[in-house]
Amino acid sequence: MEIVQKAPAKINLSLDALYQHRDGAHEWEMVMTSVDLADYVHISPSSRLSVSTDSGFLPEDPRNLAYQAALVLQRAAGVHQGAKIRLEKHIPVAAGLGGGSSDAAAVLRGLNQLWGLNWPLERLAKIGLAVDSDVPYCVYSRTALVTGKGEIVTPLDRRPDCWVVLAKPRVSVSTQSILRAIDYEQTVPHPDTKKVVAGIKQGDLPLMISGMANSLQPVTAAKHPEILALQQRLVRFGADHAQMSGSGPTVFGVCRKRSRAHRVYNSMKGFCREVYLVRPLQ
Ligand code: ATP
Repeated sequence: MEIVQKAPAKINLSLDALYQHRDGAHEWEMVMTSVDLADYVHISPSSRLSVSTDSGFLPEDPRNLAYQAALVLQRAAGVHQGAKIRLEKHIPVAAGLGGGSSDAAAVLRGLNQLWGLNWPLERLAKIGLAVDSDVPYCVYSRTALVTGKGEIVTPLDRRPDCWVVLAKPRVSVSTQSILRAIDYEQTVPHPDTKKVVAGIKQGDLPLMISGMANSLQPVTAAKHPEILALQQRLVRFGADHAQMSGSGPTVFGVCRKRSRAHRVYNSMKGFCREVYLVRPLQ
């Protein structure tokens, strides 16, 4: 019996870094949505735990977030079985699209099934925080307001009705290095999270867009100026709004109309090797 779990990429419609806790974790206020670009996690029964990937350069040991998720669940549930986990990667790595966190969340959902635990998603999300701050959100992978250290996930029960063009520059970004470089004394852009949430709930895209911003964008863009160049191009080609996702470097453009999104997608392909045209998931 093989279980296949879809692990969708996420984007941050807004990302607000509020302050740093004593333990080093950051206090977040983010609105996230998942899109139809996904890894697939294949899980089958085995007495021992193993993780393999088709990517060639991702670790296949406990450094892999999928492996960590399996260990966390094994311990929390007191399970002695293992599992054979194979990651079919499609989401660019270290891109700000949460690929590793989504794989980890998919492992939690899949092993919950394989090991017959029947834990509710809330319980899986809670233990997922130990793997990465984006894992609790990814357990649901539905448009949500995410607060605290990442553990408070409030689904919005509606997705933004738009098209999204993802443009991933060649560079990879280490999330940890960006988080270390946040300077709370400096002026950073703060999204208007309330507007983003209200815009989604009311199906009012201009309202959603009017609140969107990413506090981490200046930090990453200072190291990688191509981020601003891609953002400007997306807007010049017709996106209604463009910004960086997560800690970057992927930049995304939001388009209300499908025809416009296609135009932006085709135009961006001339400037960026990795471009995707996606939609927020239902
Ligand atoms: P986020 O937006 O959550 O910061 P990201 O998209 O920037 O995530 P990931 O693709 O999740 O980044 O990878 C971040 C790091 O985690 C990489 O350095 C990678 O080597 C490591 N990693 C461990 N396991 C995985 C996995 N299953 N998939 C991708 N990266 C993984």
